[in-house]
Amino acid sequence: MGPSQRFLPIVSPIQNCVGPSAELRTSCWLGPLPLSSAPEEKVAVPWLWEHAQEGWSPARPVLAPHSHHGQTAACSKTGWSGIQPLGYPPLTKILASFFGKLLGQELDPLKNVLVTVGAYGALFTAFQALVDEGDEVIIIEPFFDCYESMTLMARGRPVFVSLKPSPTGDGELDFSSNWQLDPTELASKFTSRTKALVLNTPNNPLGKVFSKAELELVASLCQQHDVLCFADEVYQLLVYDGVQHISIASLPGMWDRTLTIGSAGKIFGATGWKVGWALGPNHILRHLQTVHQNSIFHCPTQAQAAVAKSFEWEQLHMGQPGSYFEEFPKAMQRNRDHMTHSLQTVGLKPVVPHGGYFLIADISDFKSKMPDLPGAAEEPYDRRFVKWMIINKGLMAIPVSIFYSVPHQKDFDHYIRFCFVKLSPHSGGWDCSVTQDVPRKSPSWCWGSQQSPLSACAPVSGAKEA
Ligand code: PMP
Repeated sequence: MGPSQRFLPIVSPIQNCVGPSAELRTSCWLGPLPLSSAPEEKVAVPWLWEHAQEGWSPARPVLAPHSHHGQTAACSKTGWSGIQPLGYPPLTKILASFFGKLLGQELDPLKNVLVTVGAYGALFTAFQALVDEGDEVIIIEPFFDCYESMTLMARGRPVFVSLKPSPTGDGELDFSSNWQLDPTELASKFTSRTKALVLNTPNNPLGKVFSKAELELVASLCQQHDVLCFADEVYQLLVYDGVQHISIASLPGMWDRTLTIGSAGKIFGATGWKVGWALGPNHILRHLQTVHQNSIFHCPTQAQAAVAKSFEWEQLHMGQPGSYFEEFPKAMQRNRDHMTHSLQTVGLKPVVPHGGYFLIADISDFKSKMPDLPGAAEEPYDRRFVKWMIINKGLMAIPVSIFYSVPHQKDFDHYIRFCFVKLSPHSGGWDCSVTQDVPRKSPSWCWGSQQSPLSACAPVSGAKEA
C-alpha cells in the first residue's frame, strides 16, 4: 500500500490543514489570500503552487512570498497585529476559557497563560525560571526523558522515585494502574531542598493515569513541604476505559503551586506542530514569562492561529458527534486494543495503558530464550532486544530503561515501548475504506476553504512519536 493510500481515520482540525506531504495549508484558517498571483509569487512559493494545481489544496497559492503578506493574512480575521510574547491573543484567550473550565479557575489570558514552542518549550522555560542551583526536583520513574536533563541544565539535582508494578497472576493482563508509588518512599524524597515535583499524567511511556487518591497524596506532600508541581498533562484528553483524567491543579490548595503544561501537537494528534502552553497562577507564571520573553519572545503566529481556531471549533462542538476530542480517544482505544492483542499473540506481555499514545510490553520471558543478542553484554537487555528486533524483524520500539535514572535501569531493563497512535486495527495503517464509522468529509474543520474528499484523512507518516 502506497503512502497516499494510508490514512488516519479521523482528522484533527490541525491535520486537516495539512497536505499529503505534511505541508501547511495556511489558508484553511487564515481565509483566502488575495489572488494576486504575480509571477514572482509563483516563483517564491514553488512547492505550494505546484501542489495547489494537483487538487489537494485550495486552488491558489496559500503562502504569500513576503512575510508581511503572511502576517496580514494571519491577523486579518482578528484585527490583531504585531507580536505578543505571552502568545497570540486569540489563542491565549481560548486556552484560558477552555482550560479554565477544566481547572475550575477563572483564567486571565494575560496573567495565567503562556504559549510556548511545544510542551518542551513550556517545560524548559519552567525549569529555567524556577529551578536554581542545588534545588532538588522529584521525578517519578518511568519518566519522559527531558525532565532529568532540564533539571541538570538548570543546575538542579534530580531525585528519582519509581512506580512499582504489582505482580500479576499467570496469564493475567497487566495494567498501567497496577504500577503504584510507595507512599512512604515518596514522602522520604522530600527534603528542605526540594523545589518541585514533576507529575506526568497520563504518563509517557507507561500510559498510567494517576487516580484521585494518588494525586491527593502528591498534593498533600507538595503542600506540606511547600513544593511546586510541574504537571505535564499533554495527553490529558486521551484516556480510555472510562478512566478520568484529573488535573492536580484542580485539587484543593494546588492551583497556587502548580504549572499545568499542555501541547496542541498531542491533543490534536499532530506531533511536530510545536505549540504548547503553561497555565498557572501569575506569581509563578510571571517568572516563565520573563524567561520566555528573553529567549524565544514570540512563537510563530500561523501555528498559534491554527491551534486557536481548532480550539474554538472544539469548544463549540464538544460532546457532539464529529468532535475531534470525542472521536480521537475512541479511535486510540481501538488502536490500543488491537496492539495489545497483537503483542500477546507473539508472546509479549503488554501493560495495558489507560491513557496516552504508548504502551510498554514485558520481554522478560525472552531473556532465557534469547541470551545472545547484538550489543555489549553489559548493555541493558531491552536495548539489545530492540537492536535484535530492528535487525531481524525491521521493527522499532524504545527500550524502557532509557526512561529510568542510571542506577534504576537494571531493575527495569525488560520492557519495550510501542506507539499505537498511527496503527490501524485492520491493516497496520489507518485506511478510510475500513473506518466507515468515522465521518470522512465532515466535520468541516477548514473555514471557508474547499475540501477535497480526502481532506478528512491525513497520511500516516513513518515517523516515530517522540
Ligand atoms: N511531555 C510528554 C510527556 C511528551 O510525551 C511530549 C512529547 N513526546 C512532550 C511533553 C513534548 O510535547 P511537544 O511536542 O508539544 O513539545
